[in-house]
Amino acid sequence: MSSSKYAEQRACRAGIAGILATLLVSWLLGCRPASAACLPNVDPSIRALQTLVDQDANAALKKVAALLKAELASPVPNPQRLASLYSVQGQAYSILELESKARDAVFKGLKLATDNTDPVRIMLLSLYAENVYDQAGIAAAVKTTEEAQAVQKRGSLEDICLLIARGLLQYREDRQDLAIGSLSQAYRSSTTPAFAEPHILAAGVLATVLRGMGDYPQALTLNQEAIDWDAAHHLPLALSVDRFLRGRILILMQKYSQAIAEFDDARKLSSSLNDSQGVAFSDVRVCEARIELGQLIKARASCENALFTFIASRFSDEVKETEALLARIDLAEGHPEKALATLNEVLDHSGTDVLPLRVASLYQWRARTNAALHNYRDAYNDLAEYMRRYVATNDSDRTKQAVALRARFETDREIERNALLKRELDLSHEQSQRQAQQLRWNAIASVSGVLVIALLIYFLVTNLRFRQQLVRLASQDGLTGLPNRRRTAELATDALAASTEFDTALTLAIIDMDHFKFINDRCGHATGDYVLREFARLGRESLRSVDVLGRWGGEEFLLIMPDATAEVAIATLERLRTLVFAITLPPSGAGLRVSLSAGLASRDHQVRSLDELIARADAALYVAKNEGRDLVRVADEKSLNASGIRRLNRQ
Ligand code: GH3
Ligand code: MG
Ligand code: MG
Repeated sequence: MSSSKYAEQRACRAGIAGILATLLVSWLLGCRPASAACLPNVDPSIRALQTLVDQDANAALKKVAALLKAELASPVPNPQRLASLYSVQGQAYSILELESKARDAVFKGLKLATDNTDPVRIMLLSLYAENVYDQAGIAAAVKTTEEAQAVQKRGSLEDICLLIARGLLQYREDRQDLAIGSLSQAYRSSTTPAFAEPHILAAGVLATVLRGMGDYPQALTLNQEAIDWDAAHHLPLALSVDRFLRGRILILMQKYSQAIAEFDDARKLSSSLNDSQGVAFSDVRVCEARIELGQLIKARASCENALFTFIASRFSDEVKETEALLARIDLAEGHPEKALATLNEVLDHSGTDVLPLRVASLYQWRARTNAALHNYRDAYNDLAEYMRRYVATNDSDRTKQAVALRARFETDREIERNALLKRELDLSHEQSQRQAQQLRWNAIASVSGVLVIALLIYFLVTNLRFRQQLVRLASQDGLTGLPNRRRTAELATDALAASTEFDTALTLAIIDMDHFKFINDRCGHATGDYVLREFARLGRESLRSVDVLGRWGGEEFLLIMPDATAEVAIATLERLRTLVFAITLPPSGAGLRVSLSAGLASRDHQVRSLDELIARADAALYVAKNEGRDLVRVADEKSLNASGIRRLNRQ
């Protein structure tokens, strides 16, 4: 059984059960006169049984079974009484979700109550409409319902009850247009107080149909009528179902907090009735709403509660839907692998009876999950599948709407002919507003679909940019924007490899700012930073494009000069040495001047590694410092011997 069927069925069942209960309760309480509509005109003992069905269907079943046995054993069984008993049995099975047993009971009753003017038969036909789901059964039910309708007085209670049954069947046949025609006719023909129950029943079913078509405001209004009725007549089961349905409409309107409040109320009522499945249905919707609100921990708790009951009740589609919601929570909590495993499982077994739009949305969620796992190809495929399915459902929705609009127009004309011109004009105004609202909702739905896709693409792109940014940040020095030490070493390694391979010149220079501590101490650290940034800028502006200046650490820099012999490199460094004089210091630095010392080393055949080349440049730098700073020195035998000393000094 699919969840949509289930919810719809609960609504309608509770509706009829509600009517029965209402009538019975009202008889008992004396607030309404007895009514024959939608009900067998039977003796008080049968009515008492029907009351019992609403309170304890299992107990009612036992009593009915005993009474049936007794009646069948009598020498002359009374067919009218038997048919009535079967109708009570069908009603009890129906409430217990045992559709095939309900249908069996109704069949037996219908064989006995063959007269279409018999209210017992009308009651049985209503029950049959509620419990039939297969195409052939629905078609047969439409036929018998229409035959029965043909002999009813137009506008009578029997006529209205059959109209509602027909509307329900048409809805199941996916003919929303016809369903709206039948149901609104029933709704409009039952405005007198004597017809209050079928009026409410029609409102409830109509709300479900209109919700399915995206006319949420209208669905809410009709649903409110049902809730008011249930509350006024103390019908906790009907009230819980109607509040549940209100929550579902609110979710579709994206009013999640309000929806949760309704589900909580529905849940309390279900729980007070020991209706564990009703509790589970509320839980799963609360879970959905809380996911939308980002309340993941609470959402998980609700979903897990529901899952437990659905598994125990063997509601396989509800199990799948709940698992898909749990997968969304896993994804949001950063466990995409887990989410993907669940979604794969659910989509592999989604079958044909899960709502197409819901399956489409599962693909959309799997696309997001795959994107989170960087499975971009799978994400793309899922997204394409989502688009395909989304467009397909949307197209059929649009067709249905067009037909529905025509059906309304025709219904309106009929009423016009019935001289209700003024009222009808008001109505059509109301309807055009409703249609406009409906079109707005459709537009919103389409736009939000496109938005989701745009958002996903945006996520993909930003994710890519983010990664590029990370790569850049990982290789860049934050203060100067120059390559950091790690990156500089990589570039130097590459340069050395190229120079060795093609036997081209390569000179490295280690540059160290002179007396940098003084600058920091006298002018402040910020000035020190400024000097480093300025030096980097001068380097970028004055060096060849093939040269690489990198920050080696602190106020030390490594300059990589491919294709530069020592002579060329000395000229470069000399230029740089004088350029830094232009870096001005604040007044506190009076007497100080920015200067640098540099040590150079060129690759020759003895150099085996980068470390070795850098060590030579370092040794030359030591010489430059030693000889008074503001100097450029090239590595030679003398400096190499001195480097050991420098190392020792450093430790
Ligand atoms: P020498 O001429 O011998 O190189 O003298 P020096 O003062 O430059 O000596 P030393 O290398 O010991 O000191 C380097 C100073 O550079 C110490 C440290 O506080 C400073 N320094 C290192 N990195 C930064 C930085 O990013 N910003 C600033 N403002 N100062 C830095
Ligand atoms: Mg230093
Ligand atoms: Mg220094």
